Formats: sequence, structure tokens, C-alpha cells
Amino acid sequence: MKVLVAGAGLAGLHAAWLLRRSGHEVTVCEARDRVGGRVWSERLPNGVCVERGGEFIFPSERVVLGLCARLGLPVIPHGLSFFRRNDPEGRAPTVEHLTGVLERLGRVMERTAGEPVSVAEAFEAALGPAYEEDPVFLRTATSTAADPGAVSAAAELGPEVAGRSSYIDHTYHVAGGNQQLATSLAADLDVRPECPVGAVDQTAGSVQLTLRDGSRLVADAAVVAVPFPLLLELDRGFSWPPAIERALGTLVMGTAVKASVPLVAGATPRGVQAQQRWWAWNSLAASNEQSAAAVTAFASTAPDVVRAQRDPWPARVQRLRPDLEVTGEAVVTDWEQEVWTGGAYTVPGVAWRPGDELAFNAPVGRVVLAGEHTSATYGTMEGALRTGKRAAKLVVACFG
Ligand SMILES: Cc1cc2nc3c(=O)[nH]c(=O)nc-3n(C[C@H](O)[C@H](O)[C@H](O)COP(=O)(O)OP(=O)(O)OC[C@H]3O[C@@H](n4cnc5c(N)ncnc54)[C@H](O)[C@@H]3O)c2cc1C
Repeated sequence: MKVLVAGAGLAGLHAAWLLRRSGHEVTVCEARDRVGGRVWSERLPNGVCVERGGEFIFPSERVVLGLCARLGLPVIPHGLSFFRRNDPEGRAPTVEHLTGVLERLGRVMERTAGEPVSVAEAFEAALGPAYEEDPVFLRTATSTAADPGAVSAAAELGPEVAGRSSYIDHTYHVAGGNQQLATSLAADLDVRPECPVGAVDQTAGSVQLTLRDGSRLVADAAVVAVPFPLLLELDRGFSWPPAIERALGTLVMGTAVKASVPLVAGATPRGVQAQQRWWAWNSLAASNEQSAAAVTAFASTAPDVVRAQRDPWPARVQRLRPDLEVTGEAVVTDWEQEVWTGGAYTVPGVAWRPGDELAFNAPVGRVVLAGEHTSATYGTMEGALRTGKRAAKLVVACFG
């Protein structure tokens, strides 16, 4: 069977890799000149590898960890707490504080089950008017990368409140860069870089992708794994079923800026959360003693606010992290400006309902959708990989 894949991020590459391994002829069309999409690793001038996009892998994320093992990619710990970040004075929320906040959120969510409640509304109901200063809210609002007033509390807080992730302090990353996941998957695949897809259409027996240069590719099935904003821009000769329209209609594309700055030397690994919805961390080096000589900041404040900052990133990070000595320029990635992504990652809006993602469990004619926005674990590498696996299974089951 001939299969076309649009998008060489983790979702598209995982689908392509699995289909190729089961003997199908696969061509991947990628708009950028590199694979990996939002997983993009880079070496700073001092040699330290940093992540411009997807960075933290959680111990519960079995698909990504399993794939690393299968591809022979060692993962190393960050050595800092993702969930219980220090404040600028060095205080970290206690487990008791975290548990107390989650219990109160849990009661609010029980009371409002089935209602369109936002993250901000749930925190306000649980903690009162000063909720914005609470470290659990600050961390959630930062990492959600979207307006907490527009994000579904059930989707965003549900798993943590249910106790599935609240005590995970340890996170991992691939030694030498997460992007190796993408380059390893792509190694034996027919990936065509700088080939943006402009349109997708189909007949009863075949599917056609039209590239933006006007050329056409025809196959038995297609996996469309481009980011949510780009999916909305694709020309289509057919409509989505109502369940997919609904699921896509509830999503919000978050925005984020990441900046990595070299350090004079490694230090104690730590993550520090600022009041203004950004945080900065220095992760444990592979040597397992001090951190690597780099600090990375993630800001999800409205990008125009971040762009209007007069202080360059090294000065901002230095002020938040007096325990570190920064040196040199920052490598900055403003994800809203990345034309082939159009934001950071999706978050379910308040209209989201549990099970919305099940809409993607069936092909639309000969087209299967994949990508983090079609997953139950939105905005993660794990989610993207899971949807790639689901897409490969669907293609084989329905057209193989
Ligand atoms: C700042 C930031 C921080 C993050 N932090 C984490 C984290 O700590 N942990 C975590 O698990 N996840 C994190 N993520 C999310 C994670 O990186 C993504 O969920 C995941 O990589 C998405 O994979 P994907 O394949 O769905 O999409 P993408 O990686 O975006 O891949 C889609 C591909 O499609 C290509 N494309 C776009 N349009 C077209 C077109 N018309 N034709 C052909 N190709 C096209 C793109 O160039 C891209 O290569 C982060 C993301 C960002 C941006």
C-alpha cells in the first residue's frame, strides 16, 4: 500500500516509521528543511545541548520512553522538580500544600462536573480571590501556555486532581537532544523536506496531496499530521464529520517563547517560577553532579508582552536566578512566529468534553488525522507519538 504523510513531527514520523516497518511504501512531505517540528534541539556556543521546543518527558509517558529504549537513545534526569518549582526566594511548595490545593480543586470539579468551567474559575472557587499568587496556579498557568480563563479545568486539571501526575517530581530528556527521536525515526524513511502540502482531496479509491508548488502525489491513504493552525489552513475537497469539527472547535492554540542562555559554569539544578508566568531552569548534566552550563526560560505570557520587554533574556534570567552566572547571548524561539507551527501547543478550551479526542479514532474516507491536537494528552511528545501509532494502526486496519 502507498501512504502519504504530511508533517515530519513526532506524530507523522512515528506513523511513517511503523507503516514502513510493516512493509508499506511511505512518503513524508515536510514543510521545513528539518525533521522534528516542535522537537528542536540546538547546541549553544559552549557546546551544551538545549531544547527550543518539547523538553520534559514524564516517567508515566511509556510510549516516548519505550521508543527511546527501542531506538537506543539514553534518557537522563533533569534533576529538578517540574511540579514544585522554587519561588524567587528559594521556597518550594510543600507536598502538603500541593495536596491541599488539589483536594480543594477536586471538590470544585466534582461540584461543577459537566459544566464549562475554566482553569481560572476553578482556582478562584478553590482558593479565593488571591488564587493568582498560589504557586500551583502560577505553574499551571505558565505551562498551559494559554489564557487560564479560556482553558478547560476538566481537561487541564482533571488528571492531576485525580492523582495521576501530582507527585511526579522527576522528568527526563534524551541525552544529546530530544530531536534525535525524530532524526532516528526518519533515518530510513523517504522524507521530502521543504515540501509544504497545500491541499488534500480524495476519491473512493485514492487520496491526493497537492504541494504548494502545484505538484501532486497520489496514494491509497494519507496521514495528516500538521499542527492545528496549519490543519485549519489546508484546502480540502471534503468536510470533516461533525465529531471532528466539534473536537477541533474546542481547541485553543497556546503561545510560548523559550530562551536558553549559556552559563559560566554548572550549578545546583533548580527550576524557579517568576510571578509573571515564566520560569527558568538549569538541568542536571549527564555527569550527574552539577547542572549543564545552560539555563532555559519558558514564558507563556502574551507574546507581545514578552517581545516588548526591554531587557534582553540574559539580563532577565540573571535577575531571576542570582544563583547562576549567565554569559553571552540567548537562543530565543518565539513559537507564535514559527510559520509552520503558529503557536506552542493546543489546549482544550472550556467547551471541551471528555472523550472529544475519540473523534479521531476513525478515518475520514482515506485520510487519518494525527498530531498532539488529536490526542488525549494534548501538548506533549507522548501525545504526538500516541496519535502516530493510532494513525498507523487505522491505516493498516482500514486500507491495508
Ligand atoms: C515551547 C514548547 C515547549 C514544549 N514543551 C514540552 C515538554 O516539555 N514536554 C512535552 O512532552 N511536550 C512539549 N511540547 C509539545 C511537543 O513538542 C509537541 O506536542 C509535539 O512535538 C508535537 O508533535 P506533532 O508531530 O504533533 O507536531 P509538530 O512537531 O509541530 O510536527 C508537525 C510537522 O508538520 C510540518 N508542517 C506544518 N505545515 C505543513 C504543511 N502544510 N505541509 C507539510 N508539513 C507541514 C511542520 O513543519 C512540523 O514538522 C512543547 C512544545 C513547545 C512549542
